[in-house]
Amino acid sequence: MSTNKIGFIGLGIMGKPMAKNLIKAGKQLVVYDVVPAAVEELVKAGAERASSPAEVAKASDTVITMLPNSPHVREVVTGKDGILGAVRSGQVVVDMSSIAPLVSRELCALLEAKGAEMLDAPVSGGQEKAEKGTLAIMVGGKEEVYSKVKDLLDLMGKSNYVAGIGAGQIAKLVNQTIVGINIAAVAEGMSLAEKAGVDPRRVFQAIRGGLAGSQCMEDKAPRMFEGRYNPGFRINLHIKDLGNVQETSRAIHLSMPLVAQVMEMMQNLAADGHETLDHGALGLFYEKLNGISLKKE
Ligand code: NAD
Repeated sequence: MSTNKIGFIGLGIMGKPMAKNLIKAGKQLVVYDVVPAAVEELVKAGAERASSPAEVAKASDTVITMLPNSPHVREVVTGKDGILGAVRSGQVVVDMSSIAPLVSRELCALLEAKGAEMLDAPVSGGQEKAEKGTLAIMVGGKEEVYSKVKDLLDLMGKSNYVAGIGAGQIAKLVNQTIVGINIAAVAEGMSLAEKAGVDPRRVFQAIRGGLAGSQCMEDKAPRMFEGRYNPGFRINLHIKDLGNVQETSRAIHLSMPLVAQVMEMMQNLAADGHETLDHGALGLFYEKLNGISLKKE
């Protein structure tokens, strides 16, 4: 039975604005979250309420999930009243959460055994881009399944097909690897300027147009100079993503020494109670390590 409705499970910082953008674009949504207030807000915006992932799957054709991590997505798909118990042949599940690629592959196989399809489609961009509908969406799975839902995904941002199932998650992990190391590099470089007695703000101006320039440096260096660490992208989410990088790299015997270092820096910040600050707070780690301040009046 075709319903033309879109299911949406996981209405947090990211899922809520993404679901609202689909409603604004005229889509009929059926929503579920373990937090009743989040569901209530979407019902007020025009969505239909469901009381379990299975109910969402029964009432919709395409089901989108936007959950914290692998265990939550596994629970929503395979748990009691999960999607798997209600899924129909031809139905498409699009997991937009950032999770371990091996788990995406495992869940895809279970859904395919029921005749359904799955894509992994994690995003980059954060709350602001989720609200504006300008997320970068990295897609893994069968290309013909992607072409069926591309227009839907592009209501939330710009999607790019990468390769088979799990490849979207791999792209996201590559992104988180490069971003984490890049922010640490900015903090380490600016610490050298500060300790050597040269104003790091002048150094930033002098080098931002050259090869060291990056979107990371443009966003994070000014944050370090202002001590402005409101999120942004939280340290605890980056720790979660680097955990998925390390789980993946262990499984394929890949050595990633810089990720291990950045993970320790972020754990140290979390131990100091900074886990909800923006990941630009790697600047604070270097300040403490060297007894300096990158913050300028
Ligand atoms: P969040 O914690 O704000 O939202 C997750 C939602 O899932 C919550 O509303 C929670 O109640 C719900 N949930 C948890 N378990 C559930 C279950 N079993 N059934 C139904 N609902 C359940 O997280 P978020 O910031 O929206 O992030 C979602 C995903 O997007 C994460 O994987 C995150 O890494 C990724 N992401 C986040 C950002 C960001 O800036 N916040 C940016 C890019 C990607």
